[in-house]
Amino acid sequence: MTTTAIFGSHVLARRDGAQAVLRDHWVLLEGRRIAAVQAARPVADTVFDRPGRFVLPGLLNLHNHCFSEAVARTHTEDGNGRENNQSIVYTVLLPLTKRGIDILSPAERLAIARLGILQLLKGGAATVMEPFRNGIPEMFDAAAEMGIRFYGAPYLFSTADAQAQADGSVRYAGDDGQADLDTWDALHARWQGRGEGRIGLAMSPHATDTCGPDLLRACAARARALGVPVTTHLAQSAQEVATIQARHGGRTPAEYLDWLGLLAPDLLAAHCIASSDDDLRLMAARGATVLNCPRVFARTGVTAAFGRFAGQGVRTVVGTDGYNMDLLGELNAASMISKIVAGDPAVAPAPMLLESVTATAADVLGRLDLGRIEPGATADLTVVDMTHPQFQPLADPRRGLIALANRADIAQVFVDGRLLVDAGRLAQGDEAAIAAAGAAAIERIWDLPEARAALPRG
Ligand SMILES: [Zn+2]
Repeated sequence: MTTTAIFGSHVLARRDGAQAVLRDHWVLLEGRRIAAVQAARPVADTVFDRPGRFVLPGLLNLHNHCFSEAVARTHTEDGNGRENNQSIVYTVLLPLTKRGIDILSPAERLAIARLGILQLLKGGAATVMEPFRNGIPEMFDAAAEMGIRFYGAPYLFSTADAQAQADGSVRYAGDDGQADLDTWDALHARWQGRGEGRIGLAMSPHATDTCGPDLLRACAARARALGVPVTTHLAQSAQEVATIQARHGGRTPAEYLDWLGLLAPDLLAAHCIASSDDDLRLMAARGATVLNCPRVFARTGVTAAFGRFAGQGVRTVVGTDGYNMDLLGELNAASMISKIVAGDPAVAPAPMLLESVTATAADVLGRLDLGRIEPGATADLTVVDMTHPQFQPLADPRRGLIALANRADIAQVFVDGRLLVDAGRLAQGDEAAIAAAGAAAIERIWDLPEARAALPRG
């Protein structure tokens, strides 16, 4: 069995079920497991004895969209000529992604998927949960090929062609979710457990305003029968809250999911920015999880504060929503925005934020072998180079990570003991070729007249 030893000036280890920062320790990997965490230098086939490294559990980024946000990138900042600040989800992201799927070849879709996973890995993620539009099955191929731990979450919709009406609500054209359920089943049969277990699926009804009661009940039943997590978008806007209240007897989006039996410990709900405090307390009581993605909302002038959700007792984790797949940078934003909103610098402290993308996120998935560095855990690691000048002097490495670090400081990513990122670069594969091919495919979408009509080009 191959052994690898990694030295950390600091190691974020697990001791007695809690974080412990160990000085000058080694992490020994044997095959796909962590064999030891020790002060003495171990004997190993491969030894990484580099100064100033902070060895973390492989980070979990549980909400990302490689495809749709890549299409929108640098087209949607600064308002870009839009007359109001209406969400771009139904006016830009979903329709353009759908058209892109229609016109792109499988090779072009694979190129976009590879570009996204490259960014995720270089952003420090060892695990990603990726909701994506049906018609991009190449997400699974790219994940399997590139070695990331991958929870693919192909969307299910009740309405095949979700589009915003003039008032911002989503047109709702009957319940034709069965086709998406059939597609999900086929992908599950093909991919669940592949890649030596690194590839899996999550059940992914798109959102409360695009999924009717029958589909949501079917999703919950299917997920629980198969033991897969459920993820959805919840309370993304005030308009969504109004739509659900009008459709479903005054229920809020959270109450709607609770009514249908979805508000449970296996639910990961993205955003919840329009959730009331009562909604959040209900989610906490049911054990559901909020996926907090602060930067994608900050882009549009909207606050999504980690501290608000955590403060109501809801299990809260941080993801990148595809906008900027830099998980360390996202944690920095989560910290800053939380402190500003609360007017309190003690809110969302560094250990809590680190926990959210390690042990807490792993627990949400029922993966007690992930998100912790301890003997017997799975050999997923994210190693940060803290020798850069901005970290000196380094009195507190966890605060240094949250306050001062970003993706440029990621040195290594290991998944299942395999080195995927080294010295901040993809260990195997041509980064420039992946970036060029992915970008060329996305440009083909922007050549469409309807794309140019959706947003003025900058
Ligand atoms: Zn999302």
